[in-house]
Amino acid sequence: MSVSGEQLPSEIETIAVLGAGTMGHGIAQVAAMAGYGVVLYDTSREALEHGVERIERNLHRAIQLGKFTDDERDAALQRIRGTLRLERTLQADLFIEAAPEKLELKQELLRQIEQSATRPFIFATNTSSLSISEIASAAQIPARVVGMHFFNPVHIMKLVEIVVGKQTAPAVVEMVQRVGRRMKKEPITVRDVPGFASSRLGVALGLEAMRMLEEGVASARDIDMAMELGYNHPMGPLRLSDLIGLDVRLAIAEYLHRKLGSETFRPPEILRRLVAEGKLGKKTGEGFYRWDVEER
Ligand code: NAD
Repeated sequence: MSVSGEQLPSEIETIAVLGAGTMGHGIAQVAAMAGYGVVLYDTSREALEHGVERIERNLHRAIQLGKFTDDERDAALQRIRGTLRLERTLQADLFIEAAPEKLELKQELLRQIEQSATRPFIFATNTSSLSISEIASAAQIPARVVGMHFFNPVHIMKLVEIVVGKQTAPAVVEMVQRVGRRMKKEPITVRDVPGFASSRLGVALGLEAMRMLEEGVASARDIDMAMELGYNHPMGPLRLSDLIGLDVRLAIAEYLHRKLGSETFRPPEILRRLVAEGKLGKKTGEGFYRWDVEER
């Protein structure tokens, strides 16, 4: 799908991040560190203030670790402006939406921006599971809608998945790839399919590890070690499932099973049972492992 030149920004200078929660504050931070002007928007004053505090804390830690200087921190913080009013974001060249995972909410934000924007822009969504094409169906110009899927914690994780919707323009993909690189991330480019690349592959591995545990192939620790020591994964699939939360893993598995129709994603009994028992992993103190209070 092509878009005319005047519908796209010639360069990305200002980024508006919509939502200052777990992901939004991190995206705002890496954008400011990359030298972009940043407008951080949230509908909740508390969430906005908390988001800015978390950025300040992260930068403080980076200074303690010798990765950042006081001057760099001050410059990064000066580039971020927080707001509770959507109209204050409208000078942005790129919107990165990190609001809750609800299709209608994301579509409504997109519609509002499209109606009020006075200059060309790109709209990127950080959705982890919704279809980019479906979000874009609310837009008058779906060619400028794309996925930019960051990972938690954003200031540490190197990956950004660029998700190309059915109608996303190639020029838009190139622009957000460049933005990702400037944020010191490694962009991978993925077609808009359920689970994109990262969740589909990660969940498949996690579910197979659960089936192996169910069948008594080896203990949770030994299955994880097979991947950690044999394949150089920083963390085995069962420990990682505990960290992500078994309820979250089950919901994604059910979604992928439904959407892709593959037995690979049928949730194993052991996962259903643990979730039913309230053993959701690290956050509740037990999943495939027991977690000490200090670890939580
Ligand atoms: P979160 O709940 O921590 O943050 C969402 C923020 O959006 C909140 O601060 C909330 O006040 C704000 N908000 C609510 N309505 C809004 C609106 N209309 N406009 C602007 N802001 C609004 O959620 P999160 O974990 O940061 O997830 C945000 C998005 O990122 C979701 O689409 C999620 O699927 C995706 N994602 C999450 C993770 C993760 O590990 N948490 C990883 C990758 C992608």
